[in-house]
Amino acid sequence: MRTDRCGDLRLTDQGRTVTLCGWVSRRREHGEHLAFVDLRDRSGIVQVVVDGAQDLRAEYVLQIKGEVRQRPNETTNESLATGEIEIEAKEVIVLSEAEPPPFPLDDRTEIDEVLRLRHRYVDLRRDRMQRNLATRAKVNSAIRSAMEEQGFTEIETPMLIASTPEGARDFVVPSRKEPGSFYALPQSPQIFKQLCMVGGVDRYYQIARCLRDEDLRADRQFEFMQLDAEASFVTQEDVLKFISYAVLSAAEKITGEQQSEIPRMSWLEAQERFGSDKPDTRFGLELEELTDVFSSTEFRAFQASCIKGIRVPNGSDISRNRLDDLTEKCKQWGAQGLVWMRVEKEELNSPVSKFLTEEEQTSLREVMKAEEGDLLFLVADERHLVRHILGLLRLEIGRPPVTEGGLNFLWVVDFPLFEGVDESGNPQPAHHPFTMPHEEDLELLEAGKLLEVRSQAYDLVLNGWELGSGSVRIHKKEIQQKIFGLLGIEAEEAQEKFGFLLDAFKYGAPPHAGFAFGMDRLTALLAGEENIREVIAYPKTQSGADPLTSAPNPIDDKHLTELGLRVLPSQQ
Ligand code: ASP
Repeated sequence: MRTDRCGDLRLTDQGRTVTLCGWVSRRREHGEHLAFVDLRDRSGIVQVVVDGAQDLRAEYVLQIKGEVRQRPNETTNESLATGEIEIEAKEVIVLSEAEPPPFPLDDRTEIDEVLRLRHRYVDLRRDRMQRNLATRAKVNSAIRSAMEEQGFTEIETPMLIASTPEGARDFVVPSRKEPGSFYALPQSPQIFKQLCMVGGVDRYYQIARCLRDEDLRADRQFEFMQLDAEASFVTQEDVLKFISYAVLSAAEKITGEQQSEIPRMSWLEAQERFGSDKPDTRFGLELEELTDVFSSTEFRAFQASCIKGIRVPNGSDISRNRLDDLTEKCKQWGAQGLVWMRVEKEELNSPVSKFLTEEEQTSLREVMKAEEGDLLFLVADERHLVRHILGLLRLEIGRPPVTEGGLNFLWVVDFPLFEGVDESGNPQPAHHPFTMPHEEDLELLEAGKLLEVRSQAYDLVLNGWELGSGSVRIHKKEIQQKIFGLLGIEAEEAQEKFGFLLDAFKYGAPPHAGFAFGMDRLTALLAGEENIREVIAYPKTQSGADPLTSAPNPIDDKHLTELGLRVLPSQQ
């Protein structure tokens, strides 16, 4: 139906007769008989000069036959790739008429998200969406090639399964054949990929759809895509290498920039320096240790087990209002208070200075490397709280926009095996229950010092977003049973939930390890988007609805009966 795409035509095509298809992006009258029509397809826009007698409205779908000619000099449009030429239409066929679009399709107008999603098919015509979807396809393809180059085989795992524990709530699907029974949709292919290893697959990968019933955020949807991988007879080191290669190849495809290695940091160091297990290393404002400085202080508020601070270079002009606002935020994050100090030549200007001795002030200045004009923030509390609060404060005051500061990938390694305990006092897995404890910490495990045990788990972080996690797995039935026991999963429950995995391990399980990272998150950051919804063709809104198909919606009684279900009156 066409000889060319609109956005591809250049001055060198001058004189050619072409046939183009596309949507009317804009129409301007020119005198009585002529109209300029901007015709748009996915490659871009070209100006067409048509006989104005025709009724060609915005978003009409046209087929145009015409001659490429040079625009008169003064009408050249430098912001358009096709700006030096125009098409003199000889024949215009309306392939489809269109109602006026529900919102303007230029990228300059901010449009209500529900409206955009309700008419996603129109929204997708916008330049930004076309670009983002193309970026997504390129990232997918680069990741696939990188995995295949490294000897990984793509394997599809099922969607209707029994539960996989990733710490979120399952989406479930009622069974018609067995009323009262349910399938779970996979939170990840975790168990299947481990079974693939027992099955001798050696290196598995899949760009897998995962479903988790959790509250949605800018970087989270109910369903999302992960590059999921697992390999046998490998160490943590090997996995980091495979995954680094894959994400760096994708980044290079999109940005053209080559990066050979991803730096590493232990979980503990990340917490101490950045107050986070997913530090945004694009900027400084690191947390400084001050506990020793105030070890014998008389100032009550500083008599805490941990004190840390952040120095904001040249920050002393931050307004009092903003300081009050930051203090309020810190309180919401769990702080007792936030101490700030303006660094002046002779003194530290702060409501609390009078409570500090001369030595304390001097040594504070020294440790913080404070200079005149800086601002210091201090928090005193329990260590985990101090890290948490200053970690958030650091992001609040220093985090650059998504498009600035480059791509800072980071491996965070040596995660703890457990994080905290649940209501029944059972430790909670920091990753998932199949994660191998750190070899050096097996004694701590035996000694019951559970919260000190490190694991062979690792996260990949990009600009402060957690891209993904992985671990070396437990491949021995006894260790797996021990961990289940520690987690409070009784032998019977373990057998019921994961019996098939434990059984499989009886038949010769190779040592194995793996990883998974979010393709949506990676693509969003590579496309310079703050929200993953911008790189997903048909996402849900923040409240989990799809305004386009109006899912979720009720089903009729007949269908419910067939499934053996009844909806409680209070929920109807
Ligand atoms: N299944 C894990 C996740 O989805 C990743 C892994 O351990 O491979 O987070």
